[in-house]
Amino acid sequence: MIISVASGKGGTGKTTVATNLALSIENNIQFLDCDVEEPNAHIFLTPRIKEKYPVSIPIPQIDLSKCNFCGRCAQICAYNALAVLKDKVLVFPELCHGCGACSYLCPQGAIKETNKVIGYVEAGQRGNIEFIHGLLNIGEAMAPPLIRAVKKKAQEQRSMPLTTVIDVPPGTSCPVIESVKNSDFCILVTEPTPFGLNDLMLAVQTLKELKIPFGVVINRSDLGDKGVDDYCRKEQIPVLLRIPFKKEIASAYSKGIPLVEALPQYKSEFKHLFATIKCNISQT
Ligand code: SF4
Ligand code: SF4
Repeated sequence: MIISVASGKGGTGKTTVATNLALSIENNIQFLDCDVEEPNAHIFLTPRIKEKYPVSIPIPQIDLSKCNFCGRCAQICAYNALAVLKDKVLVFPELCHGCGACSYLCPQGAIKETNKVIGYVEAGQRGNIEFIHGLLNIGEAMAPPLIRAVKKKAQEQRSMPLTTVIDVPPGTSCPVIESVKNSDFCILVTEPTPFGLNDLMLAVQTLKELKIPFGVVINRSDLGDKGVDDYCRKEQIPVLLRIPFKKEIASAYSKGIPLVEALPQYKSEFKHLFATIKCNISQT
């Protein structure tokens, strides 16, 4: 069973929900932090890291002695990572997605590939939690290949039956799609503000397209307005949990202490959240 935890907007408490859910499940679980641009679940889960390895993508390298400057590679590159001039070919590695199309389709066989390290995967353990996260190099824009590497590592280590919790990057772009893909359920964490509602609506559209069942957790639920509640009621989206705004919660977060450890009464709330999701998955 794969449960992803996403939010259309950053700073809504997505990692709080993901880590506390993981800490409230008693069976063996995998926790994947796919928010590779800014991973922070390890601060709360404090896993013992046992393994670290680099992840790279193939970048084209042009052999000018074979190239006739036909321009085909620049035409087929969907990401504008190549420009062909009169007597040179420019490669923009930061735009390259490493898809391999240019080297495959070059009529002169003038393109070979070199590996460019984009980040690292780290894997470790905390109690019953197998922990894996990705660390994207600073300035690197290609999150999806690193997210795929995190998920591949999880797949290799996965033993059945097992629950996997995925901390998804914020937003609704490619890294989000890559992270939530193949999930059995997605928790959307939001806050009751107009910004929260706007980004929740975008995230809902994305999950509907992907045909992934979902429900909402409202963080800082006693602040803001009723817009999120009204929207969920109208769209028949289940509100699975409400976390109020409390000084003790904010204080624990600022010290890197998980909510269920700082305020143990929340453990039963997260256990109930897990049971509700399991029930929802079994009915779909
Ligand atoms: S497709 Fe090959 S031959 Fe044509 S410009 Fe690109 S590298 Fe040169
Ligand atoms: S590998 Fe793909 S993304 Fe990179 S330059 Fe070639 S065609 Fe473009």
